[in-house]
Amino acid sequence: MERTLAILKPDCVGAKKAGKVLARIEEAGFRVVAMKMVRLNAETAGQFYAVHKERPFYGELVEFMASDRCIPVVLEKENAVADFRTLIGATDPAEADEGTIRKEFATSKAFNIVHGSDSPENAKIEINFFFSEKELVETA
Ligand code: GDP
Repeated sequence: MERTLAILKPDCVGAKKAGKVLARIEEAGFRVVAMKMVRLNAETAGQFYAVHKERPFYGELVEFMASDRCIPVVLEKENAVADFRTLIGATDPAEADEGTIRKEFATSKAFNIVHGSDSPENAKIEINFFFSEKELVETA
């Protein structure tokens, strides 16, 4: 079974939308394998998004991700990575399809509620960033 990493971002947790967004994720057939509340700082947020460090918005992105709590969640499903990207929709909620989480909950390209891994390889790296093997529980 494939796994992906979701992060309920500071705009999601700060606006108390975490429960509603998680319900949408569960209703779409994903099982929660692990979940925790974290508060990133500039260093840890910068490490997580190091792949974007040459992008012009890197500083803003790091500041945003360290601005409030995040909830990283490991999710399991057949085709989890691609299906989760479909469920959350385009990076910019203005371009996201109807029925997607970002269309419904996000306010802008910068403040877009949720992260989802973009490949199975990156999912493994991102899951290991937040969770130890012991924290990934059996789901059945
Ligand atoms: P994703 O895979 O859909 O999350 O999108 P990207 O990998 O392209 O970008 C990573 C994250 O950077 C996005 O989810 C946004 O939170 C943020 N981001 C993307 N574009 C911009 C932008 O133009 N300005 C700012 N401030 N943040 C952005």
